[in-house]
Amino acid sequence: MKKIQQLEFNNTYSRLPDGFFSVVNPTPLTQPHMISVNTAVAELLELDVSDLHEPDNLAYLCGQALHEGMQPLAQCYAGHQFGGFVPRLGDGRAILLGEVVTTQNGKWDLQIKGSGLTPYSRDGDGRAVLRSTIREYLCSEAMHGLGIPTTRALCMIGSEQEVYREQIEKGAMLLRTAPSHVRFGTFEYFYYSNRHEDVEQLLDFVIQHHYPELADADNPGLALLQQVVERTAEMIAQWQAVGFAHGVMNTDNMSVLGLTMDYGPFGFLDAYEPGYICNHSDYQGRYAFDQQPNIGLFNLSCFAQALLPALGSDVDAAVAAAKQALEQYQSSYTAYYAQAMRAKLGLEQADNDDQAIVQDLLGLMAEDKVDYTILFRRLCEFSTEDGADNHALRDLFIQREQFDQWAARYRQRLASEALNDQQRASAMRSVNPAYVLRNYMAEHAIRLAESEQDYSEIERLLSLLQDPFTEQAGCEHYAGLPPDWAQQISVSCSS
Ligand code: AMP
Ligand code: MG
Repeated sequence: MKKIQQLEFNNTYSRLPDGFFSVVNPTPLTQPHMISVNTAVAELLELDVSDLHEPDNLAYLCGQALHEGMQPLAQCYAGHQFGGFVPRLGDGRAILLGEVVTTQNGKWDLQIKGSGLTPYSRDGDGRAVLRSTIREYLCSEAMHGLGIPTTRALCMIGSEQEVYREQIEKGAMLLRTAPSHVRFGTFEYFYYSNRHEDVEQLLDFVIQHHYPELADADNPGLALLQQVVERTAEMIAQWQAVGFAHGVMNTDNMSVLGLTMDYGPFGFLDAYEPGYICNHSDYQGRYAFDQQPNIGLFNLSCFAQALLPALGSDVDAAVAAAKQALEQYQSSYTAYYAQAMRAKLGLEQADNDDQAIVQDLLGLMAEDKVDYTILFRRLCEFSTEDGADNHALRDLFIQREQFDQWAARYRQRLASEALNDQQRASAMRSVNPAYVLRNYMAEHAIRLAESEQDYSEIERLLSLLQDPFTEQAGCEHYAGLPPDWAQQISVSCSS
């Protein structure tokens, strides 16, 4: 384990040509203090956390001091936001400090979010408030715990600095890590500003550092598109299976590595509601839960368009190849989703009727507003014994006869499987979480942090969500229904 001064950096992004980024230093916050360190990520970075909160060390993480290996920069990108193209976005409140090289675990971007003004801040103040920082910190780790690819965070730093939103709040910083923060929108930036050589340069960069296995492909650009289609289909299938709504699936929030990124007004389903809109600023429901798979395809089409200059000099052939790559999305998504739902139902074999069994269960859950996470966790205990009424599960429904009919079909379906009840329960418990980050849980941690500087709930949730498939003593309430006050929580893009 290294002290922060001993970290090694190799800043490959900073060696890209002018116009890919702006060199800019972070602007420190007043009276920074460490709120939470994620030891799992520290281990990944091979970083000793024992004295990370000491002022001398903290200074390197909050922009007060620069490690000699850091070369801070703000990345440039564009993006389709709510369907409309914005030609220049970029890191308006984030700064890439550098790329940490580890001995065992590869290379990791170390990025501060909430680090002050950059040339891309537009009308913003370059800051992130404590509330949104806590949400991203906890949710990215929750997603990782669920086995869903995501950016992660090393730590969260609070401050006394006032930041103005609808009301006065406190500024905070998140130290975000990912192998890369390149987005679909990064490619779009160069494509739409007619810098097609830079599209190719970015493609070379992404392949060299993140998809080296594609370097020798006949058409590396096409091979990358195919890979990104695949990873995005898989990621979104995982979101749907776990009941996660991202909230702002703009192309600038879509990672070319297929990572879930930029956590804003996200939400996990409570009662199953296909049209659930977690973002109160999303008036049209563009990013409603059940729209996410389609939006994935829209975003990939934007990405494909931006890649066109790198797909070959014959434009018609390039368009045809891109279309074909995109056509794969629907079948890949369907296959990943079917596989994930079969696992949630404890089915090892594939059967033609499985989709109907899943859809009928979901349909009944939607009608009866059954809690998504609780239902699947209880389904793990499903008994196929003669006369078993599975009442814990049955009691979740209003239409109990309909549930009984579904349960009879499910029982019949399970008869063709090899696992017994106990074996199936154990397999199912490893894919149906007991805990997800419901909005009220994050909100409770936020209120304690804001009003009393009490960060204990953040720590509790962090360790709970890092291991969401194991029931933990004293945490039963987190596995239950949300309290009534949860209905008043409203999350929007303001962060
Ligand atoms: P987001 O909705 O957080 O993904 O941000 C969309 C774009 O707005 C990105 O370019 C952000 O960097 C920028 N942005 C969001 N909030 C701020 C802020 N407070 N100050 C400056 N830029 C911001
Ligand atoms: Mg963003």
